Amino acid sequence: MNKSTLLVPVVLALSVLLGRAADQRPNILFIMSDDHTAQAVGAYATVLKDLDPTPTIDTLAAEGMTFENAFCTNAICTPSRACIITGQYPHVNGVFDLRGNIPPEKQTLPILFREAGYQTAMIGKWHLKKEPNFDYYKVLPGQGKYFDTMFRIQGPRKWPQNTVTHEGQHSSDAITDSTLEWFRNRRDPDKPFFLCHQYKAPHDYFENAPRYQSYLRDVTIPEPPTLYDVPRTFGSIATRGHEDELMAHIGTSIGKRNPRRSYAVDLKERFPEELPSDYDVAKLSERETTRLAYQAYLRKYLRCVKGVDDNLKRLFDYLRKEGLYDNTVIIYTGDQGFWLGENDYQDKRWAYDPSMRMPLIVRYPGSIRGGTRSDAIVENVDFPALMLDFAGIPRPSSMQGRSFKEVCETGREPADWKKAAYYRYWMHMAHHDNPGEMAIRTKTHKLIYFYGADYEGKNQTPPAWELYDLSRDPSELNNVYDDPAYAQVREELKEKLARLRKDVGDDGSHYPACEKIVQEFWDYDEGDREKAIEISHRFKALREASLGSREGKAPPQKN
Ligand code: CA
Repeated sequence: MNKSTLLVPVVLALSVLLGRAADQRPNILFIMSDDHTAQAVGAYATVLKDLDPTPTIDTLAAEGMTFENAFCTNAICTPSRACIITGQYPHVNGVFDLRGNIPPEKQTLPILFREAGYQTAMIGKWHLKKEPNFDYYKVLPGQGKYFDTMFRIQGPRKWPQNTVTHEGQHSSDAITDSTLEWFRNRRDPDKPFFLCHQYKAPHDYFENAPRYQSYLRDVTIPEPPTLYDVPRTFGSIATRGHEDELMAHIGTSIGKRNPRRSYAVDLKERFPEELPSDYDVAKLSERETTRLAYQAYLRKYLRCVKGVDDNLKRLFDYLRKEGLYDNTVIIYTGDQGFWLGENDYQDKRWAYDPSMRMPLIVRYPGSIRGGTRSDAIVENVDFPALMLDFAGIPRPSSMQGRSFKEVCETGREPADWKKAAYYRYWMHMAHHDNPGEMAIRTKTHKLIYFYGADYEGKNQTPPAWELYDLSRDPSELNNVYDDPAYAQVREELKEKLARLRKDVGDDGSHYPACEKIVQEFWDYDEGDREKAIEISHRFKALREASLGSREGKAPPQKN
């Protein structure tokens, strides 16, 4: 035998070995909806439990692990997505708000998957503005549209000029069709895949596919206990104003509490078919408008959720048929939470759990036991490290988040696992009237600091702190910041928050004028409290003058 014939079996064995090694790596399917909150996922739901809103997603939970304490670091679309694609907190990746973007060379997650031999694809809502750095992409421009959905695709012209439109289709159907088309015609069976499948639904203003118009039509949707009456123990001067004088101006509402933006007013124009023909905000009682607006808001929202869930069934059926279901790590999440009428709030943004918490379910029968739950604190910056870990790809030093694969597989947290999540919302009083805030969330407590200023330290709302004992008060209705029994917890958490900010890279250097306000009211002594009252009066006067000059409601800003 000569040398070359000897080499043949060696090369063959090597290629088989390499081929098999590649085959053994699991596929990664990352599914994210927009504003799909845990309260509207069957595996988490309480108020909406009996409506069985997500039977398909619940099968993932029954066959995988459900995370009770998954949090975003900034409850709004673009920043949350930026955290996941980079593994970095907003202060490090530079995406503080909706204006931010992640350029192709900073899209660490798909780059690493591709370099490791994975086939990568991004289909659906992207919202990071710059061209996706995936082998294949088909993404909505910005927020995208619910109907006649247009996608940006690869093509002969420069990003973002190549487009295709799915005429007459709802976006959830169009996105699922696009993903199925990728599987059928574009997937390379010789490579494992990393696929992001991301819905626009159920982002507001909710528009469902026509086939869901009768879904829940004759059902009275259960109401959250605080829809009409928020206990006086909830909130602070930051969220209510001095002696409740800012109740109308902080946080947009379901009912007509907030005259600038509420579903009570918006629904009449957006979804008149959901309201009685004689619906008149001016004539109806506060309670009646809230009830009607809540029912319409939830019907529309849950119809969008239903469209997501049914489309996921189509996708999972395909994966089963093709033998891909069990060798794929399937992750389901929403980019942040959403208020479903609790405390009469709508939208997201707040550091309270309904918006800060993300639904998170991970299914991989190869190593995760079905029907398990974990209360480990995980953040969206940890998601990319987890996905890389499942693929055996080392986490780069640029990623601040860590893999929690061990939690998925054993239910146990590593000894040095994080004990708290960090939160910061920067878009002071934009769109939905939420003040600038930062927070620390542990398994048992949440401390929120509403410093109440914009990037330049201007447009101040009253600063205040809130502390919630989640072991006794999981709905965050009893602010115990000034309760002497919590003095020690309060001081410890303040110190932890100060340390955590610096640890994650929010060191005050990004917006010095804002940081000056943050520092000024940090100790919150008597002088600060008096100043907060003055700011409350001043803000009330400004708001009322501005509403008066616009003769009522300003047109809602899109987000
Ligand atoms: Ca969102």
